Amino acid sequence: MKSWTEFEFLPNVKEAIKLLNQAEFKVIVVTNQASIGKGIVKEEQLRWIHQQMLDELKTYGAHIDAIYYCPHLTEDNCNCRKPKPGMLQKAGKEFKIDFNHSWMIGDEPRDIEAGKSAGCKTYQVTTNEGLLEIVQKIIRGCYYDKQN
Ligand SMILES: [Zn+2]
Repeated sequence: MKSWTEFEFLPNVKEAIKLLNQAEFKVIVVTNQASIGKGIVKEEQLRWIHQQMLDELKTYGAHIDAIYYCPHLTEDNCNCRKPKPGMLQKAGKEFKIDFNHSWMIGDEPRDIEAGKSAGCKTYQVTTNEGLLEIVQKIIRGCYYDKQN
């Protein structure tokens, strides 16, 4: 994705985020953006795209608490590019996150690997089970935990 016009929320994603907001989860996005390291996208452009995302969510009545991105290339060997858990660890410090009670949801194996390395529970989005279904399960699970 190089510009806002190429960006669109997948079906039900805004609704899923809103449910998490209502259940008082922190919603944090961690994203690999090697296109910055490659010089294809400027950092200001990416920030602007993120701001448009946040604005669209706000219109919908939902919000993301933070977006972390890794601008590096694989060969930079940074500690933030997924599957490394650097962005999650940074978020963990800044938001005082208890990873035992957190979920990393992603659509790629490296998302799941990063989550496991940070000590999160993980969920991989599949064609059969989208973000909204996963979020509904997580929220139901939490209520179950609270009752017991
Ligand atoms: Zn990085």
